[in-house]
Amino acid sequence: MNVTYAAEAQAAVKTMSGWQKLQMRRGKKVYLGHEQREGWTEKLPFYLFWCEDCKYFAKDYTHGYIEKQSLICSHCGLRYDFTPWWVSWVQLWQALKLSFQIRFSDKYNRKPPQ
Ligand SMILES: [Zn+2]
Repeated sequence: MNVTYAAEAQAAVKTMSGWQKLQMRRGKKVYLGHEQREGWTEKLPFYLFWCEDCKYFAKDYTHGYIEKQSLICSHCGLRYDFTPWWVSWVQLWQALKLSFQIRFSDKYNRKPPQ
């Protein structure tokens, strides 16, 4: 159990509306903001969510690579697959950029006819 995150989750729940709590119980993850903790090189997004397993609200930051992220319950340690909505846009942008780079390098790497 992550005592710090568990305590922060309880504090964050107090700022949530009844509608938000209901949404979280249906599986929605509420974005709390980017935070930088000690020893981290960058800020990471924190989310508040409902743990179906231990019936507590939990707070966590996204773990893993951008394509496959997860949140871990601060109480029981259960892992939830979670990919933020904006990730698909980032991936789309990267795919576009990559296909452009390939086309570009193709054009200029081609050897002139002998
Ligand atoms: Zn849990």
